[in-house]
Amino acid sequence: MKSRKLLMIPGPIEFEPEVLSALGKPTTSHVAPNFIQSFGNALRMMKEVWFAPSGQPFIMAGTGTLAMDMAGSNLIERGDKVLVISTGYFGLRYADLLLRYGAEVTFLQAELGDVVPLDMIEDELKKGAYKLLTFTHVDTSTAVMVDPKSIGALAQKYNVLSVLDGVCSVAGEEIRQEEWGIDVVLTASQKAIGVPPGLALMVVSEKAMNVWKKRKTPVANYYSDWANWLPIMQAYEAGNPSYFGTPAVNLVMALEKSLEIILAEGMDARFARHQLMAKAFREALKAMGLKSIPINEAVSAATLSAPYYPKGITGGQLLAQVNNEGVILAGGLLPEIKGDYFRIGHMGSINRADTLATISAIEVSLKKGGYVFEDGAGVKAAQMVLNANSYIEKR
Ligand code: PMP
Repeated sequence: MKSRKLLMIPGPIEFEPEVLSALGKPTTSHVAPNFIQSFGNALRMMKEVWFAPSGQPFIMAGTGTLAMDMAGSNLIERGDKVLVISTGYFGLRYADLLLRYGAEVTFLQAELGDVVPLDMIEDELKKGAYKLLTFTHVDTSTAVMVDPKSIGALAQKYNVLSVLDGVCSVAGEEIRQEEWGIDVVLTASQKAIGVPPGLALMVVSEKAMNVWKKRKTPVANYYSDWANWLPIMQAYEAGNPSYFGTPAVNLVMALEKSLEIILAEGMDARFARHQLMAKAFREALKAMGLKSIPINEAVSAATLSAPYYPKGITGGQLLAQVNNEGVILAGGLLPEIKGDYFRIGHMGSINRADTLATISAIEVSLKKGGYVFEDGAGVKAAQMVLNANSYIEKR
């Protein structure tokens, strides 16, 4: 494994060996008893990870965008008013997607690096007649994190359905779906959930399922229609075989394993570990003199960092050099500033060793690029954060 590189992009991430070996098991029939059990277990564990005991989980073959599409197509009818709260690239995607289903979209865009102020959201909701709002927990293009609890509370106050794009947050950032009154929390397998790409996941509240049941028009997307998938999820959870479209058998078995690992760690411990690693990255980047997109700690994600390149450093060269040092990072994503910053994913199985190795690779590469700063400043700052904390690596 001498040539193995550490994958530190914001998805796909490094996966646990047990998850990869579950993925590599012989593929079984999608109606075999052992698979029905795995599928049912995964559905049940999702409700625990999402903190949504009475929610309806869905596991679909597809990506995070399919999960966004499924929530949008099932909850929207032509002419419905939707408020899209955006902190970057993926907010724009949601607006675009909802327009396809005939939604009347109002778009609230945050300033770069910041969130949309709550009073601005409330002012918009007061105008009334919104059926639904969408928001991105962590926008992967900016590393900005919003507070889902307060937006969930506002949605409840104004009786508006809420959809949280948690693709870059579920199982990394704290989410308590039911307690916070969020109707849909969706994600994809390849991020903090820790399963290779290919699954779209979501949990839907009873309230949102009832809104869907009372639709006047058919869902405009055949594949996504909950009418096709709800009986399948219910059957698997009850331990019965069922078929609409062939499930991604091996990915579902890998999901079962990953959810077991997540719950064995404990959700609070997992959130705390993500917080700690993110803080180590933030302090390291600061110590090396790198500025990040999020304007302050309160809006900074725990799952990824998005630092600007320092003056005199060319992005392509830096990322290639970091790769030579054995770590894979991602470039910028937000079109307006794509070439000005890079992204470090730190979610899922991230540990101290990954964190320090990544910071060290960045440091060495910056030095080789001619950027001047105190030797070892980044690693030292990260170590101070990690050592000061009582977090003890369990795995
Ligand atoms: N939303 C967010 C916040 C994301 O980070 C991503 C993927 N980077 C998506 C949606 C879309 O997910 P996918 O690429 O799996 O379709």
